[in-house]
Amino acid sequence: MILAIISDIHSNKEALNAVLATIAAEPVDTILCLGDIVGYGPDPNDCAREVLARCTSIVRGNHDKAVVGLIDLEWFNSVAREAALWNRRKASDETLGALRTLPKGPVELDDGVVICHGTPMDEDEYMLSSTAVEESYRWIDDQQPGTLCCFHGHSHLPMVIERVGPKKQAKVHRNGSQVRLRPGSAYLINPGSVGQPRDGNPRASFGIFDSKSLVYRNLRVAYPVAETQRKILAAGLPDELAFRLAEGR
Ligand code: ZN
Repeated sequence: MILAIISDIHSNKEALNAVLATIAAEPVDTILCLGDIVGYGPDPNDCAREVLARCTSIVRGNHDKAVVGLIDLEWFNSVAREAALWNRRKASDETLGALRTLPKGPVELDDGVVICHGTPMDEDEYMLSSTAVEESYRWIDDQQPGTLCCFHGHSHLPMVIERVGPKKQAKVHRNGSQVRLRPGSAYLINPGSVGQPRDGNPRASFGIFDSKSLVYRNLRVAYPVAETQRKILAAGLPDELAFRLAEGR
């Protein structure tokens, strides 16, 4: 089975289209989505429609919850809040209804795959501290010991975390463009963000995992950033949301 894993699309239709075109050229069997389909960007309806039609498994993200009113927007900074409210106004009833029914992660799939938005314990937590990593491995040991890959998003930073050695330390492959997974180990993998990369590389980020050869790849795809920026500014969304896309921050 060959899985494509996408996350943090953030209403960026141009980036999503570029990623889906790349996926279509690969022998991918199924696409998984780790949440944050909407928020920040200018195209919530097209992105929601496309992701819902193409992905076989989806978990919700914090921005999906915010746009449909499932969480208090006070948790968001002013730019994210303004964009969430704009996305809510722009979203059709169909989009809002679909986003509202997205499952909360973690969701367990075949072949030792688990998907979640933040961490398996908490969809709103970033997998960026050693505590979050340790607790995620504890969750795997306690709840899903057969897990090979726990795919997560939320931080927008592509990363492969591997458990190694007798003390089971976490080894981080920061721009693990290709990693061959060892059976029996467990990996916490972030495919990066489709629609708002934050690792200094503006190209859209996603992952492909072959559950047979156990090779995971992080792929980067150029897309027409200027077009997305033009739409963000024309929509009256905060300028910063346009500028950051060119820098990937
Ligand atoms: Zn996000």
